[in-house]
Amino acid sequence: MGTGEILKISGIVDLSTIDYPKHASAIVFLSGCNMKCGYCQNYETITTNISEMTAEEVFNGMDLMFAESLVISGGEPTLQPEAVLELAKLAKEKGFPVKLDTNGTNPDLVEKLVLNNLINYIAIDVKAGFDNYEKITGYKKEIKEDILKIIDICKKAGVFVECRTTFIPELMDESDIGEIAKTVKNCDLYTIQQFDIEHAYDKEMEKLKPISEDELLSLGKLAKNYIENVKIKTLSSEIPII
Ligand code: SF4
Repeated sequence: MGTGEILKISGIVDLSTIDYPKHASAIVFLSGCNMKCGYCQNYETITTNISEMTAEEVFNGMDLMFAESLVISGGEPTLQPEAVLELAKLAKEKGFPVKLDTNGTNPDLVEKLVLNNLINYIAIDVKAGFDNYEKITGYKKEIKEDILKIIDICKKAGVFVECRTTFIPELMDESDIGEIAKTVKNCDLYTIQQFDIEHAYDKEMEKLKPISEDELLSLGKLAKNYIENVKIKTLSSEIPII
């Protein structure tokens, strides 16, 4: 693993209480993405607002008085594999558990993280039913096998796997949720998130009718047919499906 790699960073948060379940966390947002989702809230920031620094500089610049874990997020952090490895290694040296947020396109990096014991939690954004991926994300390559590989690698190593889907009204329907839930059924937690219309990158999406909490609940119940642990996340609350 190299050291002194220059990381491209679009943001750093010293303390969050919502990004790593049950842990206060620091978050590093790595810039760049290999998808272009219309609902992305950060697209401008992750592609234009970029600082360059080493992993040591990132850690030295953070106020880690209260954080007890590290979340590596983006953008798509796995586009900078060395950066992810170095950040995770420094976090582990501090005794911090590490969570990676990813769109599931780099199973090789996840395997390296797992083999080196550098990851505790992974959150994979499963963006759409697999035939609709290009429409929602602009991503043209096959994705299903990569996501399944990541789930398999992490489950075998005891790394907690959350899969998450942001439900886009009019572009998705319950058959997408059924297909995703059936596919990722081995994950530890499946979260269906309400789409934040106000902060969408694609302004056309502001015209979409928001999904109600009741509709989200019924999608959650559908997913629960395949996955033990399901929750829905509205813009203001999280509700487990029982
Ligand atoms: S994969 Fe994530 S960061 Fe990339 S465009 Fe989509 S929502 Fe934004």
